[in-house]
Amino acid sequence: MSDKTLFQKIIDREIPATIVYEDDHCCAFNDITPQAPVHVLIVPRKPIPRVGDAVAADQAQLGALLLAAGNVARQLGVDDRTKGFRLVINQGADAGETVPHMHVHLLAGRPLDWPPG
Ligand code: 5GP
Repeated sequence: MSDKTLFQKIIDREIPATIVYEDDHCCAFNDITPQAPVHVLIVPRKPIPRVGDAVAADQAQLGALLLAAGNVARQLGVDDRTKGFRLVINQGADAGETVPHMHVHLLAGRPLDWPPG
């Protein structure tokens, strides 16, 4: 049986998804249940389970995630300062984590409430 995470299977094209961005460290694809007109998941190729499990050796991966988020926002045209976008990382049940392969949600295309629910 494969030990790959769901997101590794997407990155490896074993499960279909609309991939919108890739670089050496990250892959980004549309969320299957979008919560906003733009809802992209930015995922490190290395399957760090969650941000609280990251270690010093993951520093480059973690930095690459935010750089990739900026690249995705620019690519999708949601990086202007008036409208903008939100980045979210959920860890644990209270935050709504469901996939144990760290990822950044990029949400845009509508006003986003603050504080979040
Ligand atoms: P989390 O709840 O862990 O922060 O985020 C997991 C996200 O993965 C959810 O927003 C969920 O909709 C998305 N998701 C779950 N399964 C799939 C899938 O098979 N394909 C895609 N593209 N997204 C998925």
